[in-house]
Amino acid sequence: MGPTVAKRLAKLGLLTIGDLLTHRPHRYEAAADEVPIANLLAGEEEVAITGKVIRTSVRRPRPRLAIIQARIADDSGEITAVWFNQAWLVDKLLPGTRVRLRGQLKRNEFNVRSYDLNGASATADFAPVYPASEEITPKKLRELVGKALAHARDDPDALPAHLADELPLRADALTAIHRPRNPEEAERGRRRLAFDELLVLQVGLARRRRGREQEVAPALGKPGELVARYQELLPFELTPHQKRAIAEIDADLARPTPMERLLQGEVGSGKTVVALYALLRAVESGKKGALMAPTETLAEQHFLTLEEPCRELGLEVALLTRSVKDDPATAQILVGTHALIQEGVDLSEVAVAVVDEQHRFGVEQRRAITGGRTPHVLHMTATPIPRTLALTVYGDLSVSEIAKPPADRKPVKTAWVTEDRSSEAYKRLRKHLDDGRQAYVVCPLIEESETSLARAAEREAERLQKGELKGYRVGLLHGRLRTAERRELMAQFKARELDVLVATTVIEVGVDVPNATIMIVQEADRFGLAQLHQLRGRVGRGAEQSYCLLVSRAKEELTDSALARLEALVASNDGFELAERDLEIRGEGQLLGTRQAGLSDLRFTRLRSDRKLLEQARKVADDLVDYEGPLNDEVDRVFTDVDVSG
Ligand code: ADP
Ligand code: MG
Repeated sequence: MGPTVAKRLAKLGLLTIGDLLTHRPHRYEAAADEVPIANLLAGEEEVAITGKVIRTSVRRPRPRLAIIQARIADDSGEITAVWFNQAWLVDKLLPGTRVRLRGQLKRNEFNVRSYDLNGASATADFAPVYPASEEITPKKLRELVGKALAHARDDPDALPAHLADELPLRADALTAIHRPRNPEEAERGRRRLAFDELLVLQVGLARRRRGREQEVAPALGKPGELVARYQELLPFELTPHQKRAIAEIDADLARPTPMERLLQGEVGSGKTVVALYALLRAVESGKKGALMAPTETLAEQHFLTLEEPCRELGLEVALLTRSVKDDPATAQILVGTHALIQEGVDLSEVAVAVVDEQHRFGVEQRRAITGGRTPHVLHMTATPIPRTLALTVYGDLSVSEIAKPPADRKPVKTAWVTEDRSSEAYKRLRKHLDDGRQAYVVCPLIEESETSLARAAEREAERLQKGELKGYRVGLLHGRLRTAERRELMAQFKARELDVLVATTVIEVGVDVPNATIMIVQEADRFGLAQLHQLRGRVGRGAEQSYCLLVSRAKEELTDSALARLEALVASNDGFELAERDLEIRGEGQLLGTRQAGLSDLRFTRLRSDRKLLEQARKVADDLVDYEGPLNDEVDRVFTDVDVSG
């Protein structure tokens, strides 16, 4: 191709033949019926005609409008076919040219949507439609991809023999996605290319896993006296799932290779209790523990949670954020944001690091924690990730799952009411307050700055204080409060000096007041599914039955996906189920966390339906990484440059 076309392709990110080959069609033309010209009927359906050009002319009714009219004949009759704004075509539509045209009959003319001249194949049924640009027509792209396909067999193929029955060869798969004879063929091709993407990703993860196995971390031996005291101090018995997670962590910590474990579990399932256990394991062996949170607010909340049990154990906890800088030297446990790492706090004594809500950390930050030194790392996430996604994103981590919350918990009852009935929701809330319980009211989410969010929350708190919540003690929690104010407010709420906490989403994670049994979320339709589920987790933390009331605009005003989200929340309390549902509603690539881990590079993969492929890829990746013998040259070429770091 010439330099002009090359430049235009570059704008689409297409720089090599390989790029063209893996440029994924976003859809395929539906099959079109072949119709004799005499039988053409005006209508919606797109059909195909085949014939010869008799004569051609161009009209220019307006300066920027060119219309080509070509008289086309087949054995049955004649018709005038029209093209808009493709004046240059006129030179190609010479009398006698054989054409196949797809289009529709309108006002006795055939409006052409796609065409073949002398047997080139753009109008074929199932012809691919590519994401094109203004400057490159879909037709030009098809032509270029067609040329690239001649090189499909130059692409190395690393398909293991045992999968050869299930998946096509790569070259055949490439041909299948660009030139399918039917939709099934295109799908088979897509699956093969998805397998390759997943394999590359999994090989990277497997290598990272192996690489880490070469690193050395302090082996912490068996659990000692401090964690025994900690467990006695807890006012409850650990659940079987907590015990299992602890056993898994103990097994990791006993080895001299760094732990890389993901602790996954519902909001309120008791992860923090397990995390503190892991931190204390570091302390009892004379080292330090560190807990990192993605935001200042979360770090503070963790600090508040850990401070009390640690004080009882005679330990000191330091908080290290942008606004608070306790002295880390005398503390055994450090809690902070990643400022903790960036601002030169000495972490050389840290033997166990807990990273909260790790999906909110970029890969870079995650690496910085472990960079150079190699502490044991426990990643903790309260946003349940569907199993498929966990394997894809965190394929290099071991997973501990707390699937069941403590036994005396009753699932939160969730109801959805429209605004016109919000006074009933508040009536219900006041009933809880009158019974000595506490409540949350979550303010609408406005997509503006923290500052305007804070102002809106202030106005809302005032409005409620004068209206629905008159006579009750109302506190206001938002992101613009100073750390000390926020701490004070949380302490007051915990001590039951406040009845209601009106809050922006800062209560999303970490606030733990078992006496709070009801929550109203205003304009709930504006929140994401995962976010609402997190918010809901602030209630139902004690033995009492708790409620979450979602208030939304009238149903007619809601988008389909908002309706689907609210329905899902009412129907289920199971975070994993909801995460799967969220994935369905939003599609992959949108879920929290998927922006990392190269998931944006997954062009052919559909996480929802490709679970089996993913597991196959993972298995093959493990085998490959284990394999010590010589590699076949082709396989070697595929994997030499694999780097899945980002
Ligand atoms: P998560 O971090 O998963 O949201 P937490 O560890 O903060 O959960 O626990 C939520 C609440 O449940 C806390 O009040 C905690 O004290 C309590 N809790 C944790 N484990 C148990 C248990 N085994 N039995 C009863 N209550 C528990
Ligand atoms: Mg917690």
